[in-house]
Amino acid sequence: MPEHCAAYACSNRQTIEARDRGITFHKFPKKDVRKKWEVALRREGFTATDSSVLCSEHFKPEDFDRTGQIVRLKDGVIPSVFNFPLHLQRVGVSS
Ligand SMILES: [Zn+2]
Repeated sequence: MPEHCAAYACSNRQTIEARDRGITFHKFPKKDVRKKWEVALRREGFTATDSSVLCSEHFKPEDFDRTGQIVRLKDGVIPSVFNFPLHLQRVGVSS
């Protein structure tokens, strides 16, 4: 069962098709950074597990380290690209 991207309204799954489209999937980091990701997702009651993933569409191009054979996220980056519905967009960004 391919993992589904944890982001709101994102239907990307960890499939060969997604990989062919250049989408990479990234596991949630540990501890402090994981909490920041959970907050960034703005999904009420969501708690990431060790199998939770986010797809590369929620990160800026400069968030990635593409120097190796596999695309990695740089340490400590926070996902910042989401398609939130209007009622969620009004929630304070700087809180
Ligand atoms: Zn996604």
